[in-house]
Amino acid sequence: MLDADFFRRWMTVTAASVDREAERLTALDSEIGDADHGSNLQRGFRAVKDALDKEPPATPGAVLTQAGRLLVSTVGGASGPLYGTLLRRTGKTLGEAAEVDRQQLAEALRAGVDAVMKLGGAAPGDKTMIDALLPAVDALGESFTAARDAARDGAVATTPMPARKGRASYLGERSIGHQDPGATSSALLIAALLDAGPGEADAGGGE
Ligand code: ADP
Ligand code: MG
Repeated sequence: MLDADFFRRWMTVTAASVDREAERLTALDSEIGDADHGSNLQRGFRAVKDALDKEPPATPGAVLTQAGRLLVSTVGGASGPLYGTLLRRTGKTLGEAAEVDRQQLAEALRAGVDAVMKLGGAAPGDKTMIDALLPAVDALGESFTAARDAARDGAVATTPMPARKGRASYLGERSIGHQDPGATSSALLIAALLDAGPGEADAGGGE
């Protein structure tokens, strides 16, 4: 089962991996955007980590709603409200439970991704974070490993797409040939689930 501590680790592992990859995310955003995606997320997830370290919330849902609120207030740009919505809606859907299993997380994350699609109006294939998140949610019922692979493959698959949402869409066909920064950071978020542990077998939801 996955408790509040697991969810806190999920956020701190994400913060560490965003720190590590910030330059790459910003470089991707410099090709089809305004070169701020890495620094935007770095600022946001540092704030999340600091807050969770200082006063760890008691439930999985509370960890994610607090993280989402902080991302909205610190990240800015398009991705702040979108990531904030993802985590807040996922957290709200988890409710007050002290522990959840992987299937419950998969269902909640699907609600979160749906909310992001509603807010941003993006569909699969529009070259956004949705192209990493949606395949990950589909694979999460199977395992964290499958979700990580699906998110990574989904991010890579954005390269040949023309962007239809966000700043990159201003470039039209010229956005082809570049991997989407938001899909790339979403793949980091999903990969962090695996690194936050527990092992697959302990996550519940059946193997
Ligand atoms: P900004 O574009 O405001 O500079 P960021 O650079 O932080 O914001 O984030 C850009 C990323 O946000 C894109 O790579 C894309 O994945 C995601 N994004 C932008 N608009 C949308 C949208 N409408 N729906 C989903 N994701 C979006
Ligand atoms: Mg940008």
